[in-house]
Amino acid sequence: MITMPENPPLTLATPIQYAKGVGPARAAQLAALNITTCGDLLFYYPRDYLTVVEEAPISTLAPGTLATITGTLLQTRLIPRRPRRFEALLEDAAGTKCVLTWFNLYGLESRLQPGMHIRVTGKVTVYRDRPQIMQPQWEPLAASPAGESPESAAPPGSRIEPVYPAGTDISSQAIAKLIRRQIDTLLPQVPEWFAADFLKERNFFTRRDAILKIHHPASKNDHITARRTLAYHEFFLHQSAVAIKRYHHRNATPAVPLRVDDRVDARIRALLPFNLTPAQNRVIESIRKDLAGSKPMNRLLQGDVGSGKTVVALYAMLAAVATKNSSVSEKGTGINSEFRIQNSEFRGHQAALMAPTEILAEQHFITLQNLLAEKKVKIALLTGSMPPKEKAVVQRQIAEGDVGLVVGTHALLSENVQFKSLALVVIDEQHKFGVEQRSAIRTKPAHSGITPHILVMTATPIPRTLAMTAFGDLDVSVIDELPPGRQPIHTKATPASMREEVYRWVATKLKGGDQAFIVLPAIDETDPQIPLDPIQNSEFRIQNSLRSVITTQKELQSDWLKDFRVGLIHGRMNADTRQHIMERFRQHLLDALVATTVIEVGVDVANATLMVIEHADRFGLSQLHQLRGRVGRGKKQSYCILLGDQSTDDSVSRLQAMVKHSSGFKIAEEDLKLRGMGQLLGTAQSGATDFHFADLLFDPHLLPMSRRDAFHLIAADPRLLDPTHAQLRTEVLTKFADTITLADVG
Ligand code: ADP
Ligand code: MG
Repeated sequence: MITMPENPPLTLATPIQYAKGVGPARAAQLAALNITTCGDLLFYYPRDYLTVVEEAPISTLAPGTLATITGTLLQTRLIPRRPRRFEALLEDAAGTKCVLTWFNLYGLESRLQPGMHIRVTGKVTVYRDRPQIMQPQWEPLAASPAGESPESAAPPGSRIEPVYPAGTDISSQAIAKLIRRQIDTLLPQVPEWFAADFLKERNFFTRRDAILKIHHPASKNDHITARRTLAYHEFFLHQSAVAIKRYHHRNATPAVPLRVDDRVDARIRALLPFNLTPAQNRVIESIRKDLAGSKPMNRLLQGDVGSGKTVVALYAMLAAVATKNSSVSEKGTGINSEFRIQNSEFRGHQAALMAPTEILAEQHFITLQNLLAEKKVKIALLTGSMPPKEKAVVQRQIAEGDVGLVVGTHALLSENVQFKSLALVVIDEQHKFGVEQRSAIRTKPAHSGITPHILVMTATPIPRTLAMTAFGDLDVSVIDELPPGRQPIHTKATPASMREEVYRWVATKLKGGDQAFIVLPAIDETDPQIPLDPIQNSEFRIQNSLRSVITTQKELQSDWLKDFRVGLIHGRMNADTRQHIMERFRQHLLDALVATTVIEVGVDVANATLMVIEHADRFGLSQLHQLRGRVGRGKKQSYCILLGDQSTDDSVSRLQAMVKHSSGFKIAEEDLKLRGMGQLLGTAQSGATDFHFADLLFDPHLLPMSRRDAFHLIAADPRLLDPTHAQLRTEVLTKFADTITLADVG
């Protein structure tokens, strides 16, 4: 007798074709939905639920409600033109008719035939004065002679059915059926990370229960609790990864303690032409505490455009150069409160400031030079477009410790740049850098056995909870007030047809001594074949009808603004030219500057009070806010005119949000609503947003709770070596393989 080998029991890792009811054809259909294992199937969650309600006569249906009706199909037809759809006309026992419409067919056209008796459930709409049900779920009922109601037509009562994201040739119902068949085998294999009590205290289900009830909720409440439970698990997994990473950063290699005593503090403040705002002082206090320790600082400084982040960076950088580098000289006084290099007897540590664009790096360089003009702290500028010879000189000075402060672009990350003693790195406008660039700078001084303190700054204010998700391993500080005397910027959204009026008005303002930025998205009218600097990739290529900076500058100079000096700046100019033009604008040798988004971040010219943005509908909300932030930096009233089409709902919402809100935080919230969390953070922060249930708007308490719990756990067991944490450890390492390595936990 031949005995068939027994089927191995299904596990979460078993390929899906071995699951009950799945043959090769089904397996291929499931693969198209990224379901290749039994686990994938179990974790394939409904996108919605249908409440199957009591049956009602068609004549009583109200639009917008859910309904279940039964009746006979009078006619069916396939409508091939787009959108391709299948329509059927159903008549109930009372003789009332209802249209049924399906967009996803799954062979419906052959299965539904006139004369069939069916029950359908779906949402009621109205189509040509007739009730219609779109995409209804349906089941055939036993054929019955007219007038007699079939047995199976008994009302099913109210129950909740899951609706799964369907494929092109597999329906939601088919997926539901497959899940129902395997769920009892698979569920017990899902690891539980938490004791049941722990979850109960927080009003959660166990993880297994939650998964079960996501697929088959008995009530609406059930499914909300299930969703909360799974969202918490997702956040918790992510926060554990974050906590491990943070623990590792803080405990791997030490940083140089940089102690700012009161004398140094006073000297730094004396450099500034203004008093710091309370918010700036608060942040500086946190930074002072961080820097004094041998655990590397890892702090995110958020502050709206114009809130004065640069001086905070300067403060931290001066702390580095003012701290004696004991590995260089044993002589000297320890603290160099004069910031002087005394015959190389005193050598401080070094600090670097990395900016995303050359324009911004150049501007920071000039700012620091001006502030430190009388001092002997040496500052160097390093950007990619500097002539190689000049670069080599600067690189040598950096390597030998001759310069204390280095300002640059990502050119600082080059292998040829070796710091003598890099104690602090400031990354300005961090959202403009990729993840790799941000972590590359951290490892810069590896050869000297220290980790630099890191301060990252951003003017893209992201809601606090979102910051916890995306930058959870950082401490967050916020500058939540602007320097005194700032006036809100008047913002107006104006149709492009008003262009001439706008520029005539600009002319009157220029006559009064103001200066203007005029921003357009494209450089020229031809498709530039020159590859754009990746950092400046927001200067998207010309798209047929977009106006360009080159043409607009010529046009304005020869016509509406002919009495004024109109400059031009964009990312394809070389650095010297750009620097020269910015300098001329700063010195008011130019009245207006026609620019691409190269001026988007950081540029600081107090006398510029007018900002005109053409094709404003083409820009994202945060980008518009950044651009607007180039004005309103002094005490004068500033204006921002958004010229553009308001043809789509989306462009209307964006431009109106700009008119309505001046705070970057408000605008970020609007952006979050309009674009969702992944979009807002951009691909640079992906992974952090790869959640299914965790949604910051759904339940704002879940993230802080999971964060507390995860940090608590990691503090007690930083490497998750406790046997009861083994499952969690495996899942963290699998899911966050690219951010956490075995080196962090091994
Ligand atoms: P951002 O946060 O956008 O980088 P900046 O650091 O460029 O802002 O500062 C914007 C402007 O405000 C600069 O001209 C700066 O000199 C000025 N500023 C910064 N702090 C203060 C302050 N406490 N009082 C007055 N002006 C300030
Ligand atoms: Mg700035």
